[in-house]
Amino acid sequence: MASFNILLLPGDGIGPEVAKEVEKVTRFLTNKGLAKFETETDLVGGAAYDAHGKAVTDATMKLADEADAVLFGAVGGPQWASVPYEHRPEAGLLRLRKDLALFANLRPAICYPALADASSLKREIVEGLDIMIVRELTGGVYFGEPKEIVTLENGEKRGVDTQVYTTHEIERIARVAFDLAKLRRNKVTSSEKHNVMRTGVLWKQVVSDLHARDYADVELEHHLADACGMQLVRWPKQYDVIVCDNLFGDMLSDVAAMLTGSLGMLPSASLGAADDKTGKRKAMYEPVHGSAPDIAGRGLANPIAMISSFGMALRYSFGLAEAADMVDTAIANVLASGVRTADIAAKGQNTVGTAEMGDAVVAELGRLI
Ligand code: NAD
Repeated sequence: MASFNILLLPGDGIGPEVAKEVEKVTRFLTNKGLAKFETETDLVGGAAYDAHGKAVTDATMKLADEADAVLFGAVGGPQWASVPYEHRPEAGLLRLRKDLALFANLRPAICYPALADASSLKREIVEGLDIMIVRELTGGVYFGEPKEIVTLENGEKRGVDTQVYTTHEIERIARVAFDLAKLRRNKVTSSEKHNVMRTGVLWKQVVSDLHARDYADVELEHHLADACGMQLVRWPKQYDVIVCDNLFGDMLSDVAAMLTGSLGMLPSASLGAADDKTGKRKAMYEPVHGSAPDIAGRGLANPIAMISSFGMALRYSFGLAEAADMVDTAIANVLASGVRTADIAAKGQNTVGTAEMGDAVVAELGRLI
């Protein structure tokens, strides 16, 4: 039986609550003999700061480096608002992304039929939606130099951020998008602003060249990022995989995510480069939501984003696509049966807590396996 090491970093707020539910799923799948998931748990974020004075320790980083995948809950909270900037809880997350060189952020936007009415768009626009935004995560305007605010001779200030991309950076993220599309509906939309940005011109050229060279069997189209934003709310089902830079990806993935309803439903994956010898990628899986201090400790959090993040790990790190499909189906069936946490309940609908939702998903998995 295949065996996988998972480093579980629950973090703060509702992180530990939703992490408990994902452990129910890993234990269940292990007991069913699908694979052996060995989970090691450690501190990150505010919890790590309280224990060690750092948002993530070197020892935890070593475990993350050695793991087959990292499952991350959420970090942050008002109690750490005044810790030194370099030790704030989010610094733990940023260090994990940076040191593991996780350059590709995958954010699926899936609209479960049972929740289509929770979207701000009409049911027919979003029902059955399944798109994937692939965002470049370690380059672009968030990291380019110079990045500064300078005082000019006339006393005015000038803020500068620098958008910068190299061929290599564009090619490796485009490769992730094309490879993913092959596992899905075989279509990639590359999104940039080649009409006004030099990086956009280069982006379009590099993606087109790579497509012609290695992925001619995948459909490729180019949409300007602003048009892509419009199309996402007009007719999102035209898309399969959208690949874009760090800045546009940040915005387009939030737009796409919100087509589907609640933050408590949204998983994500961050992937590194494939190892030359083993083909394995460093990877971290995490819900899109934060630590939700307003509901933390009350057993109210929706664990589906966390469980669904593990589903992505099954698919993209462990090569267990069938098990991943089963997790997705179990979630869809549970929702179709009317089980709701408060964040996804319609007015007047009965709600369950975090543990009950986790139990319902596990029970449904039991019926499917
Ligand atoms: P948040 O995502 O924590 O919460 C936003 C709203 O959504 C809240 O009303 C919350 O109750 C609700 N919500 C979020 N997840 C939910 C779930 N699983 N089930 C039910 N309801 C859910 O964002 P915020 O309030 O802006 O930030 C709170 C803290 O989390 C801050 O310290 C912020 O820095 C941090 N944060 C961390 C991450 C991360 O760890 N990746 C991401 C975003 C925010």
